[in-house]
Amino acid sequence: MTTPTIEPPRGGEPWLLTPGPLSTSYSVKAAMLRDLGSWDSDFRAMTARLRASLVAMLGPGGEDFTCVPMQGSGSFVVEAMLGTLVPRGAKALVLANGAYGHRAAAAMRQMGRAVEMLDKGDYLPPRGDEVAALLVRDPAISHVVAIHCETSSGILNPLSEIAEAVAAAGRRLLVDSMSAFGAVPLPEGLPFDALVSSANKCIEGVPGFGFALVRRAVLEAAQGNSHSLALDLHAQWAEFERSGQWRYTPPTHTVAAFLQALDEHAAEGGVAARGARYGTNRDTLVAGMRGLGFETLLADRWLSPIITTFFCPADPAFAFSEFYDRMKVRGFILYPGKLTVVDSFRMGHIGRFDAGVMRAAVAAVAEVLGEMGVASAAPPETALAEKRRAEREMT
Ligand SMILES: *Cc1c(COP(=O)(O)O)cnc(C)c1O
Repeated sequence: MTTPTIEPPRGGEPWLLTPGPLSTSYSVKAAMLRDLGSWDSDFRAMTARLRASLVAMLGPGGEDFTCVPMQGSGSFVVEAMLGTLVPRGAKALVLANGAYGHRAAAAMRQMGRAVEMLDKGDYLPPRGDEVAALLVRDPAISHVVAIHCETSSGILNPLSEIAEAVAAAGRRLLVDSMSAFGAVPLPEGLPFDALVSSANKCIEGVPGFGFALVRRAVLEAAQGNSHSLALDLHAQWAEFERSGQWRYTPPTHTVAAFLQALDEHAAEGGVAARGARYGTNRDTLVAGMRGLGFETLLADRWLSPIITTFFCPADPAFAFSEFYDRMKVRGFILYPGKLTVVDSFRMGHIGRFDAGVMRAAVAAVAEVLGEMGVASAAPPETALAEKRRAEREMT
């Protein structure tokens, strides 16, 4: 295991404290300085290595799974997974506590598939006992869709208890692990049929494709399910198995960058080491921001190593757009918040940087607050009341 060398981005780019696209290493970017033919054996070998490496990342039990990369952003592979694995006429329960749960449900509706939603609002986690009760009440539900880390708030959802409830009821689990895969280990023996993630999240590649890891027997039985020509995971998989090629133009440069990113992921020490670095990033950032008077939306046990939501200060001198612009001048790109009840912003801690960069970000925040004349970073009472209410419900 080696700690990666963190060099500042060349060309004066800012650090992206955003959950993908994210800051990548120079060597990942440099891997794209090469044109590749999609049909050529070199590229077919690259695709084969990519698929095998991702399956290997599942660890024990992974031999029952196959990897299907899909062109597009992460949402394309979410839609492909749902459209291919939930048969027409079947019904899925989507567990939502943020934008990505809502997006999965919207995709189901757009495809004309029956969907039920457990909507927990901005961030409260869907719990195993709630899922169990819903599945008893509605025997028509055959599939459950869960979001691993809901990037809208940064909450790490309780995947183990959800999976247990789904398996106990004899239903099938599909996981959007977009922002977690590669850094948050899957609980060992987790019963699930498929998960999806993309190139520009915890593997630290550049955008251009997503991938599904699917139980092979489930995928083999999914022929003809898809409503879509291009977003058909079964047809895409069949082509990989038949010819080693992507159907339709592959994102060749993105694949080249991703293979370099996979090598760097392995050199760092794999999922455990990547997750440990992100965890240290989070701990450093959160301690620093709390030291300045900021409050996190979530209590510590629900914080993910991916991204953290902070309440905006109540001080009338604070305005997020000015805060954003001044942080950008200092070399840090932030992310607006997604809470509907109170004002918030987010800081991501995934990407090619370490705790030193997090300390520099906190120092920049302190300077910017001074420049803006923000005397206190404390949130308004409404935010604190919301947080207390959540803590009572989230035990
Ligand atoms: C990033 C992300 C997606 C995909 O978003 P795209 O913008 O389509 O790449 C889906 N789910 C989660 C949880 C994510 O973090």
